[in-house]
Amino acid sequence: MSLAPAHADLAHRLDQASVRADELGLTALLVTPGADLRYLTGYDAVPLERLTCLVVRGHGGSAVLVVPALERPAAEASPVSSLGIEVVTWGETEDPYALVARLVGAGERVGLDDRMWAAKVLGLRRAMPGVHQELAGAAINDLRMRKSGEEVASLRAAGEAIDRVHAQVPAMLRPGRTEAEVARDIAEAILAEGHATVDFTIVASGPHSASPHHEVSGRTLRVGDPVVVDIGGTMPDGYCSDSTRTYSLGEPGAEYAEHYAALQEAQWSAVECVRPGIACEDVDAVARGVLAGSGLGDYFIHRTGHGIGLETHEEPYIVAGNALALDPGMVFSVEPGFYVEGRFGARIEDIVACGDSGPLVLNNRPRDLCVVDV
Ligand code: ZN
Ligand code: ZN
Ligand code: ZN
Repeated sequence: MSLAPAHADLAHRLDQASVRADELGLTALLVTPGADLRYLTGYDAVPLERLTCLVVRGHGGSAVLVVPALERPAAEASPVSSLGIEVVTWGETEDPYALVARLVGAGERVGLDDRMWAAKVLGLRRAMPGVHQELAGAAINDLRMRKSGEEVASLRAAGEAIDRVHAQVPAMLRPGRTEAEVARDIAEAILAEGHATVDFTIVASGPHSASPHHEVSGRTLRVGDPVVVDIGGTMPDGYCSDSTRTYSLGEPGAEYAEHYAALQEAQWSAVECVRPGIACEDVDAVARGVLAGSGLGDYFIHRTGHGIGLETHEEPYIVAGNALALDPGMVFSVEPGFYVEGRFGARIEDIVACGDSGPLVLNNRPRDLCVVDV
């Protein structure tokens, strides 16, 4: 069973998406299974080769959900029917793209959800050769980026769940175990602490810690290793967790400890500067400035953070060049790191919501380098 937000919230989102489509001059938004569809309708449909497509028409037009006949019961078990969305089915030998084209009617431009499969994009193009295709993200991302109080509460619950997993990590880190063994324990804990799915388990030990997206390997943990543990999952209501802590098997070397102290200052300074009105790029600049001041600027090789919600990576991106000003309800990671190839690395990552006057920090495990007794 999947949980869905209150119908009033869903109806409001659909309404807002239709208004935004109008403003952008789009005849309709076409949304296939994925986070956008779940956000707008509560329908957590599995993406398959058969076309399922929500048609959100502008000008106050009603929304229609096109589904394969065999998916009708699943669609009707979701909030779709009680939202007043008409469900139109197609049989195995019918052309669902022509059906969508008829529902769109005479139009010049349509918005397609940003993650739509290429096969569907091209199928829709063949069915509507005169209609220009654009990204529906322009209409939907603005909405998804600004979370309601209920959504922030969901992300807080996800944050607490992943914090409970991190609390168990020190006991899993033992010299002689492999990264893969530790990752299996972590995956089990992610589920045991309330997530519906495990999304990723990064256990990067020793020199592997210098690779930000190293997953796991058969490398054996050794005394003196730094271990970057970056983990996340999806809760039953669809909201995601994502948090990184860095551990050390025994006391770290003096150089590493010094770099880590700079990283900790960079991360917390960036968290503390979060407030309405500050630009995403300025939050990035705060973290980057502290690391540059400690001679680590060249070793911080990725953006400071990404938005999070029904997807682990979504807008807003906390990166140089993004002048978007934060609004209350925006939720994103603050995760600077340093990566010295062939030697070592570290990262600290918290999910932070922009509150009415400052940051609401959704991950709250200690941020000091976690030294594991060996
Ligand atoms: Zn990442
Ligand atoms: Zn992460
Ligand atoms: Zn992240």
